[in-house]
Amino acid sequence: MRSSRNGNGSDVLVIGGGIIGLVTAWRAAQRGLRTAVADPEPGGGAARVAAGMLAAVTELHYGEQLLLGLNLASAARYPAFAAELEAASGLETGFRACGTLAVALDSDDRAHLRDLHALQRRSGLESEWLTGRECRRLEPMLAPGVRGGLRVDGDHQIDPRRLAAALLTACERAGVVFHRGRVERLSVAGDRAAGAVLAGGTELAADQVVLAAGSLSGRLAGVPDEAVPPVRPVKGQVLRLTVPAPYAPFLSRTVRALVRGSHVYLVPRENGELVVGATSEETGWDTTVTAGGVYELLRDAHELVPGITELPLTETLAGLRPTSPDNAPLLGPTALPGLHLATGHHRNGVLLTPITGDVMAELLTGGEPPEPARPFTPRRFPSPAVSVRQEQPA
Ligand SMILES: Cc1cc2nc3c(=O)[nH]c(=O)nc-3n(C[C@H](O)[C@H](O)[C@H](O)COP(=O)(O)OP(=O)(O)OC[C@H]3O[C@@H](n4cnc5c(N)ncnc54)[C@H](O)[C@@H]3O)c2cc1C
Repeated sequence: MRSSRNGNGSDVLVIGGGIIGLVTAWRAAQRGLRTAVADPEPGGGAARVAAGMLAAVTELHYGEQLLLGLNLASAARYPAFAAELEAASGLETGFRACGTLAVALDSDDRAHLRDLHALQRRSGLESEWLTGRECRRLEPMLAPGVRGGLRVDGDHQIDPRRLAAALLTACERAGVVFHRGRVERLSVAGDRAAGAVLAGGTELAADQVVLAAGSLSGRLAGVPDEAVPPVRPVKGQVLRLTVPAPYAPFLSRTVRALVRGSHVYLVPRENGELVVGATSEETGWDTTVTAGGVYELLRDAHELVPGITELPLTETLAGLRPTSPDNAPLLGPTALPGLHLATGHHRNGVLLTPITGDVMAELLTGGEPPEPARPFTPRRFPSPAVSVRQEQPA
């Protein structure tokens, strides 16, 4: 355990209390570090919108094999992580080992899915090709036109809102101090990060600072140009439908598809919530729910599972994925001593929550990151952030 140079401050100040900042704070506090989180609304952020798929296998993309290693390592930690978090917080997380079925509706979609299956096999992953009839036997609500699919029993789900609430409570119980305000600027003393200043002027001193402000991580004043993270927002619109009780017959696992080139997924929760997502839009920090977004999601989901039109539409929301140039997270020290990053998790932030907490706690106590996290140092990007910051609207 490090000892604080700041008598009245903390050992670690985490800027941003989304799931990534909270898991970092929880794990740091468990290691004996005096930890504080600054966020006007801790437990909010993108997790309020996210579907919560833990989809290391079905989210595999060409060129992302290194990220696959990190995703799989985090997925493997999930059952124990969820159990520990539930015990520490006394709250349920909605972790559900239900598996996923990825299906195709026409011959182009099927060719794409076959290709994904081959990539999964080459990467040593478990997935099984099913005919359309076999898919419908597993999920009878699927459209008769389903042409085939991939059964992936290892891709599970969690409820991100419950995850965030459990992390918040676990942090409070572990002694994390919350400052419910927006950080206006990073404080730098000499050649190192020394804390932060809240809007309103309150100064928070800390030996180490973790910047975990999601899609806003690249906008914090006071961060030297060479340490600014190259993170941008990628908007996602999501719908929530409600399956009336009894819930069981609708869908038993996550169902996802490429419908004529666009991705759609349906994530059924045990409480009857059915999450339909998600768009992927490069529109800056805009979180407007649009008629076009809702229309496309409903159109594609209806083609996949025609019965959804009977269900009440209970919520429409848009959120921002914090996204780096290679879609992978930025974990660890920056060019400014004392300043770490935990951001850029893009579409896998929920999946990567357990390993992010472990990696950051190890780094904050002076250790080395575990093997699968080593490639994700912020230093892999050569100081690009000046232009990133200038491009952004105020
Ligand atoms: C539509 C959608 C669907 C998704 N689906 C999935 C999924 O199925 N599976 C999956 O693994 N991931 C999914 N994700 C991704 C996941 O939700 C994110 O990667 C993750 O939630 C990012 O968490 P974060 O804590 O890094 O950032 P955020 O959630 O953005 O949190 C950042 C926090 O920082 C705070 N903050 C910002 N600026 C300041 C400041 N100046 N001072 C103080 N606090 C500040 C904010 O208030 C916020 O609470 C999805 C995301 C979206 C949008």
